[in-house]
Amino acid sequence: MLRIFALCLLAFASETGAQNGVAPAAGPSAGSPEPLFAFHELDYHLHAGLERPVSMQEWLDLCVSDGRKAVVMLDHLELYRKLPEEYLRWKPHGQPPYKMGRAGHHEFFRQVDALASQRKDLLIFKGWEISETELDTGLDLEAMRLVDVIGWHISPANGRKAPDGEHLVKRARQVLQAQKRVPVPMILFHPFTMRVENLQRSAVAQGRDPKDITAEEYRFFHGDEQRQLAELLRGSSVYLEISRETEDCFFEDACRTAMLEDIRPLAEMGVQFTVSTDAHGVSDLTKTFRPAAYSQALGCTPANTNSLLRELLKIRTTKPTSVGQ
Ligand SMILES: [Zn+2]
Repeated sequence: MLRIFALCLLAFASETGAQNGVAPAAGPSAGSPEPLFAFHELDYHLHAGLERPVSMQEWLDLCVSDGRKAVVMLDHLELYRKLPEEYLRWKPHGQPPYKMGRAGHHEFFRQVDALASQRKDLLIFKGWEISETELDTGLDLEAMRLVDVIGWHISPANGRKAPDGEHLVKRARQVLQAQKRVPVPMILFHPFTMRVENLQRSAVAQGRDPKDITAEEYRFFHGDEQRQLAELLRGSSVYLEISRETEDCFFEDACRTAMLEDIRPLAEMGVQFTVSTDAHGVSDLTKTFRPAAYSQALGCTPANTNSLLRELLKIRTTKPTSVGQ
């Protein structure tokens, strides 16, 4: 496994050549080379902080036992803003493993850094999942600068207007602006399945069978929105997540049809994607992760899904992670 890591870095370093300084947010390079890893070997959205139910070593062992070779270990940034009494009311697994506030950010990422240097069976990167609302209310730049990659949590907005193409185009523009201030790769997390969640919950609340939701209702994009989004994201370092719940959507004809019509053209227009478990609990990691089953139908190839890994490795060759920062 050490060999895999070394080969990846060497291959990547030779491909990119010597770089002066950090060149993040450069986006995927034109002409995708051979993928480094298969779909299921990648997890760009692994919750590993305050909500982690077992030790970090055990958590990573679960990932490896299901085939993972590269992971982004992240946590929800807003959890560290809880007051101690709020944490005690919420506490998912007893006493918090890290302090609240900025001290906790550093404790969490120090532990990730230490494991990243110890474990030779996994490529490990650090991340945050940040609420999309912070794009409106203001960015915590200090926290954002601690990580390799940032995922923006697109909300289902349950009980309100479901996310759609217009909303995602707006968020993509905001993320591209945010990236000028913190130049790390960024991902729009689970936009499509959040719309599905909103519509299905609304249907149930209205006494309607979710199976009666039509493909037209599920459709995310209208008019020119798909092309607008593709033009914003193509060649950028902002990726779209194909979340694991997509697998459930594929069991419903209408949902699958809409998802294919929404995502396939984006892939054909050069948008780059990520796959993930979005794991919070042990059952998320003991359940076999096989994103190829839906990702390929959506036009996402292994080469496409490895673009972010290549970018992260490229950044790492020029800006090594130091333990105990
Ligand atoms: Zn998440």
